[in-house]
Amino acid sequence: MTYERRKMYNVSHLGLTCADCGAKIEELPFEPKTDRPVYCQKCARNRRRDNPRALR
Ligand SMILES: [Zn+2]
Repeated sequence: MTYERRKMYNVSHLGLTCADCGAKIEELPFEPKTDRPVYCQKCARNRRRDNPRALR
């Protein structure tokens, strides 16, 4: 199996924090949107595993 590395968007200038654990977010695997909560990589991975359709 091949793991495809996703393009990461640098969002450190936006001062975003994880909606789950509150960690500062510097990169996102998707284009940052201000109208939806964002999660750090760890929480995003946990959420994706728990609910695959919750986060593209
Ligand atoms: Zn988090």
